[in-house]
Amino acid sequence: MSTSVVEEPSAAEFKVVENGTIRGKPKLVSTDGYSYIIKKRTARSVQWRCSVRNKSVQCFSTVLQQGDIFTRGPKQHNHPAIAYLSQTVEIKRDILYERGTVHTLISKLLALPFLPGDQIKRAFTKLKERADTSSKPVADLFTYVNDQWMENSCWSPEELSVYKQTVRTNNDTEGYHRGLNHKAGRGKLAFYVLIPILHQEAKMVDYTVNLVAQEIICRIRRAVYQSLDKRISELWEDYDNHELRTEEFLEKVGEIYGRL
Ligand SMILES: [Zn+2]
Repeated sequence: MSTSVVEEPSAAEFKVVENGTIRGKPKLVSTDGYSYIIKKRTARSVQWRCSVRNKSVQCFSTVLQQGDIFTRGPKQHNHPAIAYLSQTVEIKRDILYERGTVHTLISKLLALPFLPGDQIKRAFTKLKERADTSSKPVADLFTYVNDQWMENSCWSPEELSVYKQTVRTNNDTEGYHRGLNHKAGRGKLAFYVLIPILHQEAKMVDYTVNLVAQEIICRIRRAVYQSLDKRISELWEDYDNHELRTEEFLEKVGEIYGRL
């Protein structure tokens, strides 16, 4: 005699994906197509709440985690489940991770000129050794930096160095140019309009040199660049005192410039 068993819908399985959210926080995914973020964490348990919370839908469904045991809260989801959600979350996480690694690598490459000239090439070689050059874009980037900046017949890597230099951009000349346009009232001046303005400027040079010599005026800089320079100077100091390894130094300089 056969007994028929009414099969219960198979219970969903839960899985915590570390770095599952865009902000790098853990995400709980269930095989039935829902995902959760941490609401509250205590020593013994984690309270998860549904990650669907936007202007139009606010879902209050929760899951209580105690060790490996996951228990659904009383509130049902008020939105449809998403097929393959758990896989999607993991794929997204991997893409973000890869993007992050490549981003750090690029900022390190861009920070190379901040090293003393004689150390640039060695640091570049080290970065190249560690980088995942099986990825074509990454390999291409290294080839470009190598051919264009490291093995160029017009300049040596030493000449790229801005080590301990305060003026590293042409912002000062660009700023001056902008100021001149401002004085003229507009850009693209006709020749005979430009001449008197340049003459006026030329007359100011001696005067300005004097003021600078007496330290009455100094370089005008925006506060953001001043604090940036201060931070870089500190990093140079730490690097000189061997408190920072080359790679750490590059990473920190890269972080500062990555934010600009
Ligand atoms: Zn929900």
